[in-house]
Amino acid sequence: MNIIWFRRDLRLEDNIAFNKSLEQNKDVLPIFIFDDDIIDELERNDPRVNFIHECLSKMNTSLLEKKSSLLILKGKVELIWNDLVKKYPIKKVYFNHDYEPYAIKRDQIITQFLEEKGIIVETFKDHVIFEKREIIKKDGAPYSIYTPYKNKWLEKYNAQVIEKISLPKWSNLHSTIFEFPSLKSLGFNPSLIKVKQWDISDIEDYDTNRNFPALNATSALGPHLRFGTVSIRKLAAEAKKRNQIFLSELIWREFFMQILWHYPESAHQNFKAKYNGIQWRNNTTEFEKWCEGQTGYPIVDAGMRELNKTGYMHNRVRMITASFLIKHLLIDWRWGEAYFAKKLLDFELSSNAGNWQWAAGTGCDSAPYFRVFNPYEQVKKFDKDLNYIKKWVPEFQELTYPQPMVEHKMARLRALETYKKGLNRY
Ligand code: FAD
Repeated sequence: MNIIWFRRDLRLEDNIAFNKSLEQNKDVLPIFIFDDDIIDELERNDPRVNFIHECLSKMNTSLLEKKSSLLILKGKVELIWNDLVKKYPIKKVYFNHDYEPYAIKRDQIITQFLEEKGIIVETFKDHVIFEKREIIKKDGAPYSIYTPYKNKWLEKYNAQVIEKISLPKWSNLHSTIFEFPSLKSLGFNPSLIKVKQWDISDIEDYDTNRNFPALNATSALGPHLRFGTVSIRKLAAEAKKRNQIFLSELIWREFFMQILWHYPESAHQNFKAKYNGIQWRNNTTEFEKWCEGQTGYPIVDAGMRELNKTGYMHNRVRMITASFLIKHLLIDWRWGEAYFAKKLLDFELSSNAGNWQWAAGTGCDSAPYFRVFNPYEQVKKFDKDLNYIKKWVPEFQELTYPQPMVEHKMARLRALETYKKGLNRY
């Protein structure tokens, strides 16, 4: 018996660890573990758990057609593996790499445990085109600036011979049929918030329209990339053919992933320590107003309400809301990062922390700290007909709509002053 352990690669198509496990072995048992250490932290109707459950159900249906099925488990990962090795005569375990600090630690512990039992562990790159130290500078140091990273990435990508991936050897699947658990039995309830489908033809005009939130002109691939329901290899190949700007966004994703892998502490600490002296105001009442979309700045409120209602927020508006929280309200970027982490369907630690630090000016390749987005100017440029605002804040011209919670000019000067003082303290 051999095991393929699915995690954030929820597809049977073009999945490296899955294909390899079936290519190299007979009797391969597919499993997925709902990790208590992760899901215990979540709301009981978390839409991402709903999505994972739906994806697993689809995979299970496909496996049933091949006279196999997914074994779904729930609990503390170490205890689950302890049970699995007692129950099955496991020879090999396969899984794809995950680059988040928690996952790296968990995988090290499980690998060591399995190897001590004489079980072979085989792991693969599947989630990205280039991982870990594959794109580094000539002197061996990691890139911390995006543009040279991207140039090197493209150079390597364009030079590589793409290996053709064979179809899975379905007959090598383990043939027991397991009962598929309901969402309820896993301790969760259905959510009204749903992940959108995507269509590759949506990216044709990506470069022209992507900055206008009312147009819905981005791919909505975020959650699919997060949970691996799409193959990054296929997506990058399509992007290369169809739209270079879109490809460069996929490279941003990998840029932040390698940053997190090289600098795991950057998930929670300023990438640039010289910003550690900033005295955040961290006013909880103001933070709540921001969370609820009640700041009196229609574009900020529209973004936050979209997020709360749908689990999505357009990238342009993410930048505006983040900048507002950090600069206008002087609230620590980590508070905003944590709120987005709770709400975003496409929450990805590397991209979330990376982009929040970008907005704060504390990150590896950030906006300069003295760049303070003017929310009114942003509306003129990116939502001039107010279509996005009208959709999410229909009462924005009525008396019931709150006055701006802070005056822009004053807030901008206060932010500059506070940052300067913080830098002097360093
Ligand atoms: P598209 O514009 O269609 O782009 C396609 C894909 O490229 C995205 O799905 C994503 O995987 C990648 N991508 C695009 N822009 C970026 C970027 N700036 N950084 C990294 N990858 C990018 N993205 C996340 O995937 N998870 C997050 O938790 C996240 N948090 C963010 C927080 C802030 C404050 C900001 C400013 C941006 C954040 N982003 C995050 C980046 C970006 O906003 C989203 O990837 C994008 O809006 C998702 O929508 P889409 O799938 O339609 O993207």
